[in-house]
Amino acid sequence: MKTKTYAPTPTNLRRLAAALQRGALVAIPTETVYGLAAHALDVRACESIFKAKGRPTQDPLIVHVLDLAHAELLAEFNDTARKLVRQFWPGPLTLVLPKQPCVPGIVTANRHTVAIRSPAHPLTRRLLRLAGVPLAAPSANLFGYISPTSAAHVLDGLGGKIPHILDGGSCRVGVESTILDLTNPAQPRILRPGSITATQLEKSLGLKIHEGARSRRKTTANKGLIAPGLLAQHYSPRTPLEIKPNWSTLPPNVGGIFLRKPPGRITPGTYWLSQRGALTEMARQLYEVLRAADHGNHNHLWIQALPADSGGLTAAINDRLRRAAAKR
Ligand code: AMP
Ligand code: MG
Repeated sequence: MKTKTYAPTPTNLRRLAAALQRGALVAIPTETVYGLAAHALDVRACESIFKAKGRPTQDPLIVHVLDLAHAELLAEFNDTARKLVRQFWPGPLTLVLPKQPCVPGIVTANRHTVAIRSPAHPLTRRLLRLAGVPLAAPSANLFGYISPTSAAHVLDGLGGKIPHILDGGSCRVGVESTILDLTNPAQPRILRPGSITATQLEKSLGLKIHEGARSRRKTTANKGLIAPGLLAQHYSPRTPLEIKPNWSTLPPNVGGIFLRKPPGRITPGTYWLSQRGALTEMARQLYEVLRAADHGNHNHLWIQALPADSGGLTAAINDRLRRAAAKR
């Protein structure tokens, strides 16, 4: 299959919206990472997402919608969910809620719940408006590999496997959305940390937010199904990666990724996530730098993690680092 990358012209957006309506796959830019989108109510279209990514069908998809009105057609909202939507949508907050009957089992891995969000990226919002259908979209990469934050990253992993990529430049946030389980609104639980933090959610709701998935515990709602997005190893470069507090010299064949640009002369094989240590820049650059280091011909990679109390995006960044560095 030939993969075509499209500039975001009005004609191309109309063409891609029509392709989505017909059940074709389109890689789309969002503020977090690029998504591989399909018509969420079209079972065959959703099946082709799993095929293109090599993703196991037990790993449910996030559905992207324009707004709350569209979301309520797919999920049963409660007052807690509506409150968060008013504050954080459109944006990188995914809510897990009981699903409406119209959502096919392929999207939810046959769970009773659906994960749903309204992306802020203007191009994807235009596509949602033009297509007029909800879009199921996991990250647009091969399953388990580093998530894509540019059209070139998508092409690198899925070139030849998908027909269309909408080029919206580099993603502003750079790490995946915060996933909040609100199936029990009295006990909200963060299943995946993202740029919307537990502190922000607690402030908005005046409630304690629990962190960490119960994904391995068998609950009746989920019948013990696991969600690989929450598994220990994910987002991983092919080169083995290890978290190290610091180092002064790099052994030969090891690439070293610092959180911020080290002072003095830069030795070959040295990478950094930010110039001056800004967390937003680290998140935005994380996957780009991991990919560059993975292509740097090293036998091993070392990377620094953030001190746990660095606030803001720390939980999201360290979560991705831990999973990227986890042993296969
Ligand atoms: P990705 O789209 O690749 O960012 O991964 C989506 C992730 O969302 C999955 O791996 C799950 O961890 C999570 N997710 C999606 N739907 C549900 C659901 N119904 N319940 C719990 N987690 C979900
Ligand atoms: Mg993913």
